[in-house]
Amino acid sequence: MTDRYFLETPVDGNRAVLCGGEAHHLVHVMRARQGDRLTLFDGSGAEYTAEISALRRDRVELVIVAQAEVDRELPFPLTLAVALPKGDRQRWLVEKAVELGVGRVVPLVTAHSVARPTAGVIMRMRRWVIDASKQCGRNRLMQIAEPTGWPDLLAGSTDVALRILAHPAPQAPARPTEVNAGCLDHSAGCLGQSAALAQTPTDRILAAIGPEGGFTDEEIAAARRAGWRVIDLGPRILRVETAAVFLAALLVARRGG
Ligand code: SAH
Repeated sequence: MTDRYFLETPVDGNRAVLCGGEAHHLVHVMRARQGDRLTLFDGSGAEYTAEISALRRDRVELVIVAQAEVDRELPFPLTLAVALPKGDRQRWLVEKAVELGVGRVVPLVTAHSVARPTAGVIMRMRRWVIDASKQCGRNRLMQIAEPTGWPDLLAGSTDVALRILAHPAPQAPARPTEVNAGCLDHSAGCLGQSAALAQTPTDRILAAIGPEGGFTDEEIAAARRAGWRVIDLGPRILRVETAAVFLAALLVARRGG
């Protein structure tokens, strides 16, 4: 999987060109030569075997010798709406989401979000998606959506079969009475039931993870009114990126893929 290169420009007939960082890496780091073979992907689902026909300092020309549709996607389209963490933790989140097969990440803006994700952050996230896809073998790029506010996410997702919001249950001693009173569903059982609510194993799933300050009561109430399930992920408070990856992994484990 390591010798995969991402094509920014579409294949033209049986010819392809790598420019920029990808070409630089091939020429200066890998010391590639004319006639060498490598794997290319363009994010459309296809995977190409290509042979280098010409090398320049920052441009590598290739001839496609074979093409295949290689599907390493989840059987159910999974979107994570996440109030982004800061710094390096953003990159970790993107990388793990790609590896787990998440189809789309929506940078979420909520009442307690620290900052609205800038255009620069979104651009960097898209670059990390490519890096992670090269490594893990995905041929479709995980989408990074434009930043979306909580009310817009609720309004724009009414057709999604299963919508889940992660929110910690109140801690003991409140837990036994309040949780059992139906305030929050319990994690494993709830996820099992929620996952079962989707009509088929290929139904879309949308899972939301809040900021370090959590979702507000109003945000949770609005989600419940819109038909979302609220789930608890256990007695420890997870960081945003841990909660996102844990929830994605739980869904993948339960639904397959
Ligand atoms: N202080 C906040 C916790 C924020 S943790 C609060 O009490 O709500 C950041 C986000 O990760 C949360 O909004 C939630 O979506 C998710 N999360 C973290 N730990 C969780 C848990 N144990 N159960 C459910 N969601 C959790």
